[in-house]
Amino acid sequence: MIDFRDSVSGRFIRYTEYDSMSNPALCGKKRPTTDGQVVLQKALLDELSGMGLECEYTQESVVHGILRANVPNVPAVAFMAHVDTADDVMGNGVKAIRHTYAGGDIRLPGTVIREADNPDLAKYIGSEIITSDGTTLLGADDKAGVAEIMEALAYLVRHPEICHGDVEVFFTPDEETGSGMDQFPYDRMVSKVCYTMDGGPEGEIECECFNAATSTITVSGVSTHLGSARGRLVNALKVASTITDALPQAESPEATDGRYGYYHVGSVTGTNVRAVMEVYIRDFDSDSFSFRISALEELARAVGRIYHAQVDIDTRISYRNMARANEAHPQALETVFAAAKGLGIRLEEALIRGGTDGARMAEKAGIPCPNLFTGGHNYHSLEEWVSVDVMSEAVNLILAIIGCQKGGC
Ligand SMILES: [Zn+2]
Repeated sequence: MIDFRDSVSGRFIRYTEYDSMSNPALCGKKRPTTDGQVVLQKALLDELSGMGLECEYTQESVVHGILRANVPNVPAVAFMAHVDTADDVMGNGVKAIRHTYAGGDIRLPGTVIREADNPDLAKYIGSEIITSDGTTLLGADDKAGVAEIMEALAYLVRHPEICHGDVEVFFTPDEETGSGMDQFPYDRMVSKVCYTMDGGPEGEIECECFNAATSTITVSGVSTHLGSARGRLVNALKVASTITDALPQAESPEATDGRYGYYHVGSVTGTNVRAVMEVYIRDFDSDSFSFRISALEELARAVGRIYHAQVDIDTRISYRNMARANEAHPQALETVFAAAKGLGIRLEEALIRGGTDGARMAEKAGIPCPNLFTGGHNYHSLEEWVSVDVMSEAVNLILAIIGCQKGGC
C-alpha cells in the first residue's frame, strides 16, 4: 500500500478549518443552507481546476469534476462526499489535534474520549489519530471522505502513467439536513457506478439501507363551544393521539435493531380543530415496507371513522433500500471487494438503519452506490476521532477501485 498518511491527514486538517456546518432549519429555503459550505466547495473547485480536471460548480450547488480517461474503453467511476458537517454539536471553529495514541483515555480540553467506550482505539496504539479539542465535532463526517477522494485524484494527476477511465467526483452540500440530493446534476453524470466515501470504521462497507417513507396525517375535527360540546365536538388532537397509541411499541425505533423495521411518530402539531402528524416508516424489506404503509393508512382512517373526524393522508417515499440497485448491477460490489482483497483489507458489510445520499442516487437514477469506510468514529459528537492509518488505506482503496475498472484487479 502507498503511504498517504502525511498528505491525507494534512489535507483533512486543512478542510476541517472551513466552517461548513449545515442548518436544517433552512432546508427548502436556502441551498446550500449555509454559506460556509459554498466557501469550502469553491476551494475544492479551485483545487480540482488547479490539478487540471474539468470541473464546475453546478446550478444544483454541487461540485462536479472529471479526470478524463487516459486510455479508451474503461468504464467511468464516480466518488462522492458531502462538504457539510452536522449541527448536533457545534461544527464550526474546529481545532484539530494530532495524537500519537499511547493507549488509555484521551483527555481533550473539552471532553474525554474513553477507551472503554471506544474498543476500536486499541487497534491504533502507536499510530496517529486526530480529534477536535473536544469543544466541537471534528468533521471527519465527511471531510475525511472529501480528503481521501482529493488525495487519490492528486496522486493520479501526479502519475499519468497509471491508466484509468473517466474518474468523476461530486462534492455535495447539506447531506446532514437530508436535502443534499434534492437537486443533483444527473444529466451531466457520466458514470454508471458511484461510491460514497461517507462511512465509518476500517473495513466497513454499507450496501443496504432502509426503505423510508413519511406519512403526513391531517386530522380535521369539529369545533363547538365547550359548554355545549356533547355529541358534537370532535377533538383532532384526541384522534391523533389514538393513532399514536395504536402503533405497536415493539415496532418503534427504541425497541428495534438489526433488520427490524419500525413506525415512529416524529411530530404532532395543531389544535382540537386540526392536527397534523408525521409518521416515519422504515423497513429493509420492500414487501414489509408496503405493508406498513397500508396498515398505517388503514389504521388512521379507521380511527378517523370511529371519531367522525376527517382524516387525510399523504405518504411520500423518501428513499428505498439501495440493495436493489446493487443487486441489479453486481459489478459495483464485485469491484470493491476485489479491490479490497488486492490490498489485504477485510471488508465487512454493515446495514444502515437510515439512508445515505447514495440511496437517493440509487432510487432516482438506478446507479449502485455503496458507502465505504473513511476511518472516522463517533460521528456527530464531541468525541469524534479518525485514524490516519485508515484514511491512508481508504485512499489506496479508491485507487484500487479505479484500477479495477480496467478489469484486471
Ligand atoms: Zn456523512
